[in-house]
Amino acid sequence: MTDCLFCKMVSGEIPPDKVYEDDQVLAFRDINPQAPLHVLVIPKEHIATLNDLDDTHLPLLGRMVQTAAIIAAQEGFDERGYRTVINCNAEAGQSVFHIHLHLLAGRAMHWPPG
Ligand code: AMP
Ligand code: ZN
Repeated sequence: MTDCLFCKMVSGEIPPDKVYEDDQVLAFRDINPQAPLHVLVIPKEHIATLNDLDDTHLPLLGRMVQTAAIIAAQEGFDERGYRTVINCNAEAGQSVFHIHLHLLAGRAMHWPPG
């Protein structure tokens, strides 16, 4: 997707503040952090929303969640706790239509989320 911001981060056209990368996923710091740690974990494959997942994507989603857990531990938040969120479409507040897992940590999280 040539007009997708996060695909441009995967290609390197827009360099992310990278935290982790492998052959399937990329993780980088959010430009507008909502917590002391706010990292986005994305698949390298362009998938617009959770509604576009199929069975072939399931290992990839597992990889994304595990990557968030590894980063949380590396940053020292595995015992304190952290939150992971994937927003889907307008009412959830999705603004970039390439799926991304938010990893938030470093402050008390509220429930239910706003
Ligand atoms: P969402 O609202 O769930 O679609 O999340 C999109 C996230 O992407 C927001 O938290 C934005 O702050 C973040 N974002 C937008 N542009 C950039 C960028 N250039 N680099 C890093 N994060 C970004
Ligand atoms: Zn994309």
